[in-house]
Parts: sequence; C-alpha cells; structure tokens
Amino acid sequence: MWAHASEPIGGAEALAAVAHAASACTRCPLHRGRTHAVPGEGNPISDVLLVGEGPGAREDATGRPFVGPAGQLLTELLHSIGWERRDVFIANVVKCRPPGNRDPEPAEVAACAPYLDEQERALDPAVIVTLGRHSLQRYLPGARIGAIHGQLRRVASGRHVFPMYHPAAALHQSSLRETLFRDMRGLPAALLVARRALEDERIASAREELEPEGPGQVPAPSQPDPGAEQMTLF
Ligand code: URA
Repeated sequence: MWAHASEPIGGAEALAAVAHAASACTRCPLHRGRTHAVPGEGNPISDVLLVGEGPGAREDATGRPFVGPAGQLLTELLHSIGWERRDVFIANVVKCRPPGNRDPEPAEVAACAPYLDEQERALDPAVIVTLGRHSLQRYLPGARIGAIHGQLRRVASGRHVFPMYHPAAALHQSSLRETLFRDMRGLPAALLVARRALEDERIASAREELEPEGPGQVPAPSQPDPGAEQMTLF
C-alpha cells in the first residue's frame, strides 16, 4: 500500500549493497567501537523513509535500527496511524554507535553521508521523516525543530521532509509525547500532499516532452494528403 506504483529497478539490491558496505566501513573512528553497523531496515519499495540520529546500545548489539526504548515508542507511533515498521524504511544519519550515545560529530555525519545518500537514491521516497535535530540538519541546515515539527517542507534537493522530534526526547520530557503523536497523525495527509505534488510534476514533465512549445502551441496537424493512407495512433 505504501509502495511505489513501480519498483525502481535495483532498489533492493542497492540497499543491500549499502548495508554490506556500511558493515565493513572504516571511514570514521566510530567503526572502532561498533559491535554491528546499523545500516537500516524496512520495506525496500516504501515511499516513506524515516531518518534517526545514530544507533544506541541495543541497536549496536543487534545491528537493527530503533529496537531500544526509543524504538518501542517509534513502533507505537507508527501503530497509532495504522502503519507497521515493515511499511516504511528506517535508517540513521550515522550507521555506527557514538560512544556513550553522545551526539554524532559533524565529521562523522559527513563521513557517513554517502550511505544515506545512496539509500535515498535507492528508495526515492515521497517523504522523508526526520527524527530529531541531527537528521533535520541534514535536510534543513539551521532550522529549529520547535518551529517546524509536524510541517511538510520541500527542501533544496527537491525532497519532501516531515520533521518530527526524536522519540527518545519524549522518554526524557513527557510533554513531548503528545506532540509526537499529534505530529504523527499528520503524516498520512503529508504523504498524500507530497505524492500528489510529485505526480503533478511527473505529468507536467511528460506533457512538456509531448508539447515542448507549451499547451496550445502544438502545431496544427498538417492537411492529410488525400492520396496517403490514413495513419492512426493506436
Ligand atoms: N536512536 C536513533 O536515532 N536511532 C536508532 O536507531 C536508535 C535510537
């Protein structure tokens, strides 16, 4: 239901290649402390990509994203709108656990960015849900989560981004729990808006190819040559 109408060829293979490469990655010092890299998981043809910050202890131990306490809340949030984890793809800005769950450093985020870039290319999601500020900074540098959470934004790359607080924030600050559930309730409508905008653009560009001189500028069909055989399109 949440998938593309047509699967991008090689999307699943590209995601598997990212997972393989990330598990052997030595691009930044975080690899030295990892038990497992946590490349991400989910539906390879989903058009919703959720992006968190980085693995915690449980994720490092299992190699799976969002399986600790924040992950339980994320699963609850998805259930609250009738979605399952398998309906979406879940990834992180950094694929290896920062020691002591500290924030990832800019150099670590930069070193890991090609993996998330490739995951985005493979999924070509209609909406990217950012979970927390590190994820938000990737798409909207300088934006304040308090000002834009729950609001669909179109970013410079052309992607539609739906910023949310990180579920872990609600574990420390219970007032954010209601905010997270409220924002999540807005996600299905945001997805529809994004899908429609993308579809409109696809139609417009297909039209542009058919009518390069603009609507109404299609040259009038030349007069049929009475002697020529009638040609039909279909
Ligand atoms: N927090 C994150 O940002 N990502 C995870 O995978 C787990 C917790």
